Amino acid sequence: GIYGGQINNTSEIDNYPGFQKISGPELAESMYNTANRFGAEFGYGNVEAIEKTGALWDIQTDMGDNYQAKTVIVGTGTRYKKLGVLGEEHFEGRGVSYCAICDGEFFTGKHVVVVGGGDSAVEEAIYLAKIVDRVTLVHWRDELSAQKGTQDVLFNTPNIDVVWNSQVTEIKGDMTVNLVTLTNNGGTVSDLSADGIFVYIGMNPNSEIVSHLDVVDERGQILTNAALETGLEGLYAIGDVRNTPMRQISTSVGDGALVSQTIIEKLNKAAAPVSI
Ligand code: NAP
Repeated sequence: GIYGGQINNTSEIDNYPGFQKISGPELAESMYNTANRFGAEFGYGNVEAIEKTGALWDIQTDMGDNYQAKTVIVGTGTRYKKLGVLGEEHFEGRGVSYCAICDGEFFTGKHVVVVGGGDSAVEEAIYLAKIVDRVTLVHWRDELSAQKGTQDVLFNTPNIDVVWNSQVTEIKGDMTVNLVTLTNNGGTVSDLSADGIFVYIGMNPNSEIVSHLDVVDERGQILTNAALETGLEGLYAIGDVRNTPMRQISTSVGDGALVSQTIIEKLNKAAAPVSI
């Protein structure tokens, strides 16, 4: 995929230090340029296998490339969760979306439903409200878990309504979505006319490439200590894919800085001549 991963799915970032407001794709490109400026080399492809062979890690990609390294940093992030309801798969790309910045413009002047109550759902509902006619946020509880300041913006945006204690249980339409079925916690079922639905109900870690190495927990998060080591010599994990208590761009960047310095010191130490 494009450099920056999930950052690219974020319309407006307003809590990354140094920027009042910056779009996700702009920040991702800027970070890519920084890495280039410091001489990082980029390889392409999906990693299909990571194995330790002697002192080295051996990495194979679906492009047929094979890399060998003393250390590997896994920073594969997360991917969006799906609702798993009837119609979701059928209408994906035809009204069902997981990325407001990618697809929001298709719904200019229309009514969309956003599902979820975390930072992503609330931030993207606010973003969509600037483009579409009306947003209905559907949340399965009676309170949101998003940051307080963002919630305040949501509640003060006149074209956003919130439907509490309800779940989307079916997505219907003809060629594209035109109806969303809601079931509230009391079991009452109702249909809501909508031209699109944006799903932001959380993330799953992209840790499958190391799942055979016994370094992930039951949720698929890579387990690390404070030095971001996995317990296997030379294998580190950073960012949202690991068992971090906070998933923000700033915390991922911090992980990257910490682990890079640790590795450089370790490699320098190993390379230093032994004095007698
Ligand atoms: P999240 O924080 O896990 O929130 C998921 C939301 O969806 C919660 O409201 C959850 O309800 C609800 N939910 C879960 N499963 C559901 C289902 N099957 N049906 C309906 N609703 C469901 O996910 P996220 O908002 O994508 O955020 C992921 C991480 O990135 C978080 O750590 C977040 O803080 C971070 N993030 C930070 C920023 C920022 O700093 N600006 C922006 C975006 C994301 P419950 O509350 O009941 O679990």
